[in-house]
Amino acid sequence: MAAKLIDGKAVAAEVEAEVRAELARTGLNPGLTVVRVGDDPASEIYVRNKAKKAQELGIAGSELIFPTAMPEADLLAEIARLNADPAVDGILVQLPLPRQIDADKVVNAIDPEKDVDGFHPMNVGRLHLGRPTLTPCTPAGVMRLLASTGVPIPGAHAVVLGRSDIVGKPMAALLLQAHATVSICHSRTRDLPEVARQGDIVVAAIGRPLFVTSEMVKPGAIVIDVGINRVGPEFASRLTQDEQKSRVLAKNGSATVGDVDFSRVREVAGWITPVPGGVGPMTIAMLMRNTVTAAIRRRQ
Ligand code: NDP
Repeated sequence: MAAKLIDGKAVAAEVEAEVRAELARTGLNPGLTVVRVGDDPASEIYVRNKAKKAQELGIAGSELIFPTAMPEADLLAEIARLNADPAVDGILVQLPLPRQIDADKVVNAIDPEKDVDGFHPMNVGRLHLGRPTLTPCTPAGVMRLLASTGVPIPGAHAVVLGRSDIVGKPMAALLLQAHATVSICHSRTRDLPEVARQGDIVVAAIGRPLFVTSEMVKPGAIVIDVGINRVGPEFASRLTQDEQKSRVLAKNGSATVGDVDFSRVREVAGWITPVPGGVGPMTIAMLMRNTVTAAIRRRQ
């Protein structure tokens, strides 16, 4: 039997409704500033979508765009200005940053109370200690998707593929807090398929197209696909079973796929997220949630 689909757009809409209700209840008009340096096309879309969604929900969302050659000191000065601006509740600096700018320095410079990405070491520490914090948006979104299945997490074996600071590590921390038994796999993991097959929950966040095959998934498992990969005609033979993607690939010469071989894994898994329409919409929705949380906390 094919896996049940986890609808990220629907769950994101629930989160957005909560944000609207919270804004109505509190009468707050929080400010979110998204900073972009350079002209990376993917970043351009992400930043625009974030600011647009904020405005749609009643958050004062604004974009600050700087040239690729911006000196690090100038960006740090901008962050200091935003830190001091009482109308700004959330600051997000879109990564990656140009080479001359040390991303760590920039993240460290953001006021932890305004760090709506949850990347500041103070917030990372709080997350790992299980204290209230601004939680990184993508893993927080995955937790909401898992909750939407109604399948209990305590005692489940969760396998996280990837150990990046922005997805894999915080994901593992959140699953551990939810009382899962957590395994984290990475490029040095010995026999990754064998570890993945033990997962009642598998979260794939490695950035390798169609990496997770049906042989790596325990029957009935929940499979969450964080990956976003653009592939070309070289993937045509692997996408034959996926009519819609094959059509897009033939038409545009490229298609967006996840880290999971969706059309085959869905024959084995119990639940699965599509790409797009799974984790992606959740990331932005959780950013809006974090902005409201930051605004409420700063006023307390
Ligand atoms: P990174 O490149 O920072 O990290 C990738 C991780 O995967 C690393 O830990 C790496 O291991 C591991 N890895 C890479 N190749 C393999 C392999 N062949 N076998 C085992 N492990 C491997 O990626 P991110 O965490 O930033 O992003 C992961 C994916 O999620 C990307 O496709 C990205 O586009 C997507 N993404 C999606 C978001 C959304 O909103 N849906 C948000 C953020 C990211 P090692 O540490 O050993 O090098």
